[in-house]
Formats: sequence, C-alpha cells, structure tokens
Amino acid sequence: MKHLDVYQVLNDKSLLGQTATVCGWVRTFRDSSAVSFLEVADGTSFSRLQVVVDKNALSLDPECAKTGASVCVTGEVVKAFKGEGAELNAKEVKLLGKCPPEYPIQKKRTTLEFLRSIPHLRLRTNTFTAVFRVRSVAAQAIHRYFHENRYYYMNTPIITASDCEGAGEMFRVTTQPYGVKAASEAEYYKNDFFGQKAGLSVSGQLEGEVAATAFSKIYTFGPSFRAENSNTTRHLAEFWHIEPEVAFAELPDIIEIAEEMLKYVIRAVLEECPEEMNFFDAFVEKGLKEKLLHVVNSEFAVCDYTEAVEILKKADAAFQYPVEWGCDLQTEHEKYLTECVFKKPVFVTNYPKAIKSFYMKQNPDGKTVAATDLLVPGIGEIIGCSEREADLDKLVSAMKERNMDMSAYQQYLDLRLFGSVPHSGFGLGFERFVMYVTGMDNIRDVTLFPRSVNNIM
Ligand code: ATP
Ligand code: MN
Repeated sequence: MKHLDVYQVLNDKSLLGQTATVCGWVRTFRDSSAVSFLEVADGTSFSRLQVVVDKNALSLDPECAKTGASVCVTGEVVKAFKGEGAELNAKEVKLLGKCPPEYPIQKKRTTLEFLRSIPHLRLRTNTFTAVFRVRSVAAQAIHRYFHENRYYYMNTPIITASDCEGAGEMFRVTTQPYGVKAASEAEYYKNDFFGQKAGLSVSGQLEGEVAATAFSKIYTFGPSFRAENSNTTRHLAEFWHIEPEVAFAELPDIIEIAEEMLKYVIRAVLEECPEEMNFFDAFVEKGLKEKLLHVVNSEFAVCDYTEAVEILKKADAAFQYPVEWGCDLQTEHEKYLTECVFKKPVFVTNYPKAIKSFYMKQNPDGKTVAATDLLVPGIGEIIGCSEREADLDKLVSAMKERNMDMSAYQQYLDLRLFGSVPHSGFGLGFERFVMYVTGMDNIRDVTLFPRSVNNIM
C-alpha cells in the first residue's frame, strides 16, 4: 500500500501543504459539533498523528471511530493547531479492519499486570511502544559500539553439550519419545538425537573464548536459557545475552570496557529516543533522565567484595539474609550497596572463589577470584564479569576441586595449552539493561513473550 509513516508526516516539514496517506490504528476519538478528531498510531513514532475530520465535508464511517480500528487516511498535511508537529485534514478515511467493543485495550488506564495477560495486544499501548522502541535502539547501539571498536560478532551454538557454569540449570534438548526405557542414564542419552546429553546454552562464553583466542576481540548477542526456578522480577527462562570476550585484557581492562560500552548505549538511547525517555521520566520513574545523565557523566564506583561485606555488616538496614565473608550477595545487599552507599553503578570485585565459577582467574591470595559484578540502582546485578584463568594447571585443579568431567572440556583446556593468553569477558543481560534505562521494574514488561516457570503464553 502506498503510504507514509506517521513519523514522516509528523516530522518532515516539506510535507506541509501536501496530500499524504497514512495507515494505522485508532487510539482515541473525540467529537465536537463541527469536527471529529482521530488519533492514529502506526508505531513508527511515539507521538500519534491527529486526524481532523470536517463533518460537513466528510461523513465518517462510525466503525472508524472505534478504539483499535485500523484505518487508512488521506488528507492535507497542515501545521498542528498545538505544538510543533503536523496534523492531517482528512479528505478520505477508509476502514481497514473493524475493532469490536470487547477490544481489551481501552482508554481508561489498565494495569501492567492485566496487560501481561494479553501479550499479543499490549504492544499497542504507549508504555509498550516506548519500551520496545528503546529496546530496538539499544540493540542497534550495542552492535554499533562493538563494530566501531573492531570486535567481531560471533554466533555461538544454542544447543550445547556443556553447562557453562556446571550449575545444572540447563533445559534438556531431546527427541526421545514419552516413556522410553533404558537400562541406565548413559544408555538413555546414547539413544537420543546427539548420542549424548544435550541442552540449551546458558551462556556462549566458552565458545566465545575460543573465538577471542583467534580474533582478540569478539562479542556474542543471542539468547541464553536458564531453567531456574526463581520467580523474580529480574529472571526469565529465556533472555538475551551480550557477551564480549577480549584477549590480552585483565580485570581492570574489561571493567573499563564494560563501563564505556554501557555509557555509549545509554547516550544513544537518550539521543535517539527523546520522546520515549520523556514518557518514562514522567510516568514510570521520576528523575530517570537525570539519573542516566549523571551515569554517563560520572565514573562508576569500584568496591572490593571484602570491603562491601564490611559495609553491609555495619549497615543500618534490616536484611533478610545475614552477611558474612564468603556468602554470595543477595539482591537486597546488592541494592543497598548501589542505591544507598554508592548511589550509582558499582563494580564489586574479587569475590570468594568458592561462590564463583571454575574458569575465573585465581588471585594470589588463594581465596578470591578476579571476578566482578556490576550492580545498578533499582535492579542489582546487570553484568557478571571476570578475568579467565589462563594457567592450565590452576584451571585443572579448580575443575578437579569441583569434580568436573574433564573430558567434556578438552577443547577449553587446549586454549590454555596452545598459546595461552590473559583474557577477560562479561555477560550483560539485555532485558536487565532495558529495565535499567526505561525504569520498568518487571523483566516481563521488557520482553515480547516472557518465558518463566509455568508461563509460556
Ligand atoms: P543472578 O545472580 O542475578 O541470577 P547470575 O549471576 O546467574 O545472575 P550470570 O551468570 O553472571 O548471572 O549472567 C550474566 C548476566 O546475565 C547477569 O548479570 C544478568 O544480567 C543476566 N541474567 C542472568 N540470568 C538471567 C535470567 N534468568 N534472566 C535474565 N537475565 C539474566
Ligand atoms: Mn553473576
């Protein structure tokens, strides 16, 4: 269909006085004695286009006045009565698709919770239009950041035989029919599609390291899957994961990269989504824009885990989980550090080795590893990061301590045998980043079709 985007009609000054055709969905309808007003949205811009219908010149099909109806409007582009933009004086309003009154998205304010029950329709609201435009712009900016800095984009496998963390949160991939009998677990998997146990990847890191030890700087941007039973506002069973891996980078280098990348992407969102960010600032998180401007213009804090534990022990706060050196930080601790102590993003570094993964570089103190989590206000952890153990013997002993099956990691160990180099990487949860920049506080509201325990709508 020959038509223009609403975005174009609203912004292209050269269209003033011209005839234009737009297509979209009716968001609101208002009527006065002489004219009717339709607000039409097509998703190409946060603002909607006001269509003015002169009742003496044009008789409007009443179906075109219903919220949710799809229409095709031709008219003259004129300067808007109010504000900067343009509006359309209708010459013809054609109905494309009727929208009966049971359409669940009506003008009266509905809750995010209700909208979660209609994921196929909620995108036609202001909030979700804004969220997903920001999400798209952020994704483009992430690719741009890495491309401009000569990182290569790698697509690591989604079906994998190894559980990166050894934590057993993997979804299994199988083609075995229901009720298959097998004498042992080993035999069961031997008869399966791959001839061994397989699952959905929880992280592309191990394969990312393979690529980084050839290309120096790589990143992945793809889905990760975790069968974690945690029903929280920041965990999904399927999320998008950005994982750069950088050779010849030590922990301070990768921290610098993570900070620079985040600032780059936040700046891009502020610049490219001004209307959406104004909306979030006004209706979702007051002061959001100022917070983000402060973030891009200041240094992130860095705090040693040991020091963080001291701060938390002295904190004037009633934590549900007690804090001792050696414990993993809970969300409440993470939030306290970033919201109350540092009041900005903070890298907590050098965690006890017992609570972190086998592949992290062991520090000379024998107790900690060169790992860091980036904590941000409102969410807690958004990045998990570490320098990788490059020493073959140390890596092998860390794996033995964890009773890992060495034969499954032969390729990974080879990277330490043949020209081993210091290298580091991190994992950024894309949905958590989108939550952070939009102020949305439930991960289900920044994902088209969120997957979590008992939910695959
Ligand atoms: P958390 O402690 O919050 O469960 P994690 O330590 O398991 O996270 P990592 O394995 O370090 O997470 O993964 C790197 C990043 O991926 C995290 O910092 C987070 O942003 C994101 N992430 C991890 N698990 C999930 C999930 N289930 N849903 C959405 N994002 C996730
Ligand atoms: Mn982590």
